[in-house]
Amino acid sequence: MTQSAWTRDGRPFNAAAIAIRDWEAMKQVAQPGDFVMPCCMAPAIPKTSINGLPFFAHQSGECSTAPETKWHRLGKAAVLSSLRVLGIEGGEEWPGQSPSGDKWQADVLFTSGGRTIVIELQRSYQHLRDFIRRQERYAASGVECYWLLPKENFLTLGKSTSRLLLKREYGNVFPRGGIGTGMLPELPVAMLSVDGEQRVLFGGFKSAMVQTWLAGILTNAYQYRGGSWNLD
Ligand SMILES: [Zn+2]
Repeated sequence: MTQSAWTRDGRPFNAAAIAIRDWEAMKQVAQPGDFVMPCCMAPAIPKTSINGLPFFAHQSGECSTAPETKWHRLGKAAVLSSLRVLGIEGGEEWPGQSPSGDKWQADVLFTSGGRTIVIELQRSYQHLRDFIRRQERYAASGVECYWLLPKENFLTLGKSTSRLLLKREYGNVFPRGGIGTGMLPELPVAMLSVDGEQRVLFGGFKSAMVQTWLAGILTNAYQYRGGSWNLD
């Protein structure tokens, strides 16, 4: 199940942003084929969970897409549909290059208030130096980049960044106040959960709706605080 789907005419649709009364009304009138699943483009059916969570399910009950690919596609749909709620149209797999000719392709790219912002959804393992290298390549291109990772991947990255952070900032003495999730100030990273309710998780039991997180990027409320990237 997922909270984001594509409409028949290819627009991202965010069930998380709909009042439950409107959702129930829409379920009554929805026709087969009105929505498709972002994971496999199969017909999607709007449903409500026993906990009152609006979501889309495969009409056939089955998904043909491998789990690894699924997170990436559902994550992109979650970001694009949440941007749409904010009145912003994002581009998918957007190509660009740095002034020195270094090419990149952004998972999601959008512009707002003179800023160009990229959301990278990194499902597979990536070495810390590659995170840094890609972050710097975006910075050289005048682009801000924010990362979303699945939980396992976030924890793996956190081991590397914590080591570096402890050494660089604290002389390898673990500080009394802790180091939060052990992330780096130069690398904004959070977790994304798309299984069931789509949410950005910051660690330390803090989380937000995807649209709230994106709004926080736009208002600069999403900041580095005591070793973690979060909204407050
Ligand atoms: Zn599917």
